[in-house]
Amino acid sequence: MQIQENFSLLAFNTFNIDSKAAYYYAAEDIAGLKSLFKQQQETSYPMFLLGGGSNILLLGDYEGLVVHNQFKGIKVVAEDEQHIYVEAAGGEVWHDLVRYTVDHGWWGIENLSLIPGSVGAAPIQNIGAYGAELKDVFVTLIAMNTSTGKLAEFTLHDCDFGYRDSIFKQELKGQYFIISVTIRLSKAPQPKLSYGAINKSLEQKGIKEPTVLQISDTICEIRSSKLPDPKELGNSGSFFKNVIVPKEKLAELEGHYEKVPSYPVDEHSVKLPTGWLIEQCGWKGKRVGQTGAYAKQALVLVNYGQATGREIFQLSEEIKDSVREKFGIDISREVTLV
Ligand SMILES: Cc1cc2nc3c(=O)[nH]c(=O)nc-3n(C[C@H](O)[C@H](O)[C@H](O)COP(=O)(O)OP(=O)(O)OC[C@H]3O[C@@H](n4cnc5c(N)ncnc54)[C@H](O)[C@@H]3O)c2cc1C
Repeated sequence: MQIQENFSLLAFNTFNIDSKAAYYYAAEDIAGLKSLFKQQQETSYPMFLLGGGSNILLLGDYEGLVVHNQFKGIKVVAEDEQHIYVEAAGGEVWHDLVRYTVDHGWWGIENLSLIPGSVGAAPIQNIGAYGAELKDVFVTLIAMNTSTGKLAEFTLHDCDFGYRDSIFKQELKGQYFIISVTIRLSKAPQPKLSYGAINKSLEQKGIKEPTVLQISDTICEIRSSKLPDPKELGNSGSFFKNVIVPKEKLAELEGHYEKVPSYPVDEHSVKLPTGWLIEQCGWKGKRVGQTGAYAKQALVLVNYGQATGREIFQLSEEIKDSVREKFGIDISREVTLV
């Protein structure tokens, strides 16, 4: 078992923070992972499970063991008349899985194109974009208990998926290392085009009945035009979650603002885009030293090059405070602080 010491995480987090892990292990196989967890039981170091590092903020050097998911492999495990079941190892890049399925003409995850990160982390916050979520196609996952080294299977019901949420972010946080995920895809076209600018972009290209590949390509284009590329400008996508508020709160805001964007949730509540709330507080495009809120989307905090995790965290606290002060609404972070 090869554990590396004083290991730089610079290449493994999309905020491009130059922090080090006291210990680092690249997990590639079940036997190695099992003996790592056994050995870990005999130490008192904290442990962090790392995928692509695209939803974390490193606050400083990590005085513990980072276990990096490097399990590889994508395969078809079952098929019926309408569906294909694909199992992907947790260390696969999520977008590579999307392209694999799209290239085969299978429908289901094309709207989740270009979301950074690993397959193993996709269930953690039930990744979602453009009207689709992982839970829509999820069948099962295999994970290893980090205390006992035992493998366990989790069904859709077990995962308790919610909006950017799952049991792995709540009661089971840090307790299971996700090794593989199985999804169910459709052989027949099932386009979901109503969300965001997808329809408009396809119309502009003169495409009336898009293929799954055309939808994936279009979503990649839209995302690239809106979100900063972490290779050029460090970021972790949406830093905060959108907020769900009672309808009365929306009515109250509509009394003060001309146009308040909102999405229905149920008969009592609506979802408000947190980016809009932050924008109204004057943060959009504002730079504070080496960090700031992105000029095209205030929900995205960026590292202009030399920011520390602490500076980005400090900015996020100031933004939270100002949203609370102006709107009386508490916003919560989507990224995990490490
Ligand atoms: C530019 C950009 C755009 C983004 N857009 C979206 C979007 O549209 N929708 C969306 O949902 N997200 C989005 N994100 C966030 C991010 O891509 C997802 O949350 C992604 O699933 C994180 O994967 P990761 O492998 O990088 O996880 P990491 O950042 O490495 O880890 C995230 C969390 O998952 C845990 N974890 C990671 N791997 C495992 C594992 N194998 N077992 C158990 N726990 C694990 C970690 O401990 C941590 O708590 C975006 C990020 C960026 C940078």
